[in-house]
Amino acid sequence: MGLAEELELGVATRLYIGGEWVAPLRSALDEVINPATEAIIGKVAVGGAAEVDQALSAAREAFDHGPWPRLSHEERAARMQALYDVLMRRAAEIQRIIVLEAGSTQSLAEALQFATPMAHAQWFIRAAMRRDWEQPLPLNVGTTMAGTRSLGGGVSRHEPLGVVAAVTAYNFPFFLNLAKVFPALLMGNTMVLKPSPYTPFEALVIAEAAHEAGLPKGVLNVVTGGAEVGQALSSDRRVDMVTFTGSDVVGAAIMQQAAPGLKRVHLELGGKSALIVRADADLQKAAMSGLVNFTLHCGQGCGLNTRHLVHNSVRPAYIEMVKAMVAHVKVGDPADPATGMGPLIRESQRARVERYVESGLASGARLVCGGKRPEHLKKGFFFEPTLFDGVDNRSDIARHEIFGPVACVTGFDSDEEAIAMANDSDFGLGGTIFSADTGAAYDMACQLRTGTVMINGGPAAMNSAAPMGGYKRSGIGREYGVDGLLAYTEQKSIVFPVG
Ligand code: NAD
Repeated sequence: MGLAEELELGVATRLYIGGEWVAPLRSALDEVINPATEAIIGKVAVGGAAEVDQALSAAREAFDHGPWPRLSHEERAARMQALYDVLMRRAAEIQRIIVLEAGSTQSLAEALQFATPMAHAQWFIRAAMRRDWEQPLPLNVGTTMAGTRSLGGGVSRHEPLGVVAAVTAYNFPFFLNLAKVFPALLMGNTMVLKPSPYTPFEALVIAEAAHEAGLPKGVLNVVTGGAEVGQALSSDRRVDMVTFTGSDVVGAAIMQQAAPGLKRVHLELGGKSALIVRADADLQKAAMSGLVNFTLHCGQGCGLNTRHLVHNSVRPAYIEMVKAMVAHVKVGDPADPATGMGPLIRESQRARVERYVESGLASGARLVCGGKRPEHLKKGFFFEPTLFDGVDNRSDIARHEIFGPVACVTGFDSDEEAIAMANDSDFGLGGTIFSADTGAAYDMACQLRTGTVMINGGPAAMNSAAPMGGYKRSGIGREYGVDGLLAYTEQKSIVFPVG
């Protein structure tokens, strides 16, 4: 039975371990809720210590004795292409699940939630076969241990790292899982994947697809469950690397859990990125980008620019434009193609957003629009697009990651002031600069302490070759691009005499 049918029945009782669908020890199931209706859309198995143990044994066996790390890059790429093809065939079903479990709008599910990660996966497959990181070391005249001079050469190799534990967030469930599964497996590693308990079904679909594509047993294992599963994975001595996408708080906990084992830790964490609008910017384009940066997926995006730093000479016009655009954003059923913004993931997240709105008002910021639940939606975790003006960059709404549809506008008078405010943040994930003077914008981009900067709304999210990651509390390491592949390797130098 396919997962789609199981979803209709409302249950997925098994975990994918060692190439088999395994019932966990605990019979209790987690309820999965549609955030747009609050209805239970399914139940899912809850893994625990016993299932983590089984999955790690399977992943270890597949790495230490199985064929996967010993295949050529071309052979692995062919298997991963087969996985890609199965996922592509199931596109409509996957997009439907993204709408149901993550509350994503249909258009977002088709584009950024599905097409973009699939494009990244295809890029990873090609890059893994191209292997353009493989370079001989330069010739070197050196003295041997016996004291004679000789000409030496060598190679620097990238080898599979081992067993990777991947723990992911809820907001882009298919995207985030694929961003780890493809590079890690292409580079010869094996994996245990733990998705968010809010969005487990995407990971189970990937497991089904991996099974159908004929990946050797134990190469990809999926254990659904909560923090307990993530804790067990990140502290187990059989894991060589933990790759995590989620909040900075959990990222810090994972570092601690992984520390006794001295595991490699790769962290893709939260953000509070700045959108800088210079006085010479195309204001219409800047305002449109500003709108998208707090309404896309109800503001639940790590790289969204939720601090809008706007030159004071154009700030009133900017505010009016964004406010007028907000009025056209239809909030409601994410499955309706006309809907521009769906719900937050859970009531707890909505309550958190409400606390920040109160805190913003108490700090003296001016509420331009929103700030409350939409009156016409009685069910679902909806919240209105909310814009604050006159925000103090030191206040909590400007400093904390709210992860909801809330943007803060703060004025500035000089480029230096804008850069200083943008950098005055605990986070350093993204940023955008709008300006007619692209040279000046580039100079500013170089001064921002963040992993990605878009100038005039450049399509960074679509560029698979662009490494993405964070400075400061936004993370450690880079995902995507060649760096994203090499993150899952050990590097070895082999040197030898050549004459
Ligand atoms: P979260 O940190 O609450 O949870 C993420 C995952 O960690 C879940 O699977 C959860 O079960 C697990 N977990 C919780 N405690 C754990 C522990 N002690 N040990 C191991 N695992 C544990 O994040 P969330 O609410 O699911 O997602 C939102 C966050 O993710 C935001 O901060 C957002 O910015 C971030 N995010 C970052 C990126 C990026 O690429 N930088 C992308 C998407 C989301």
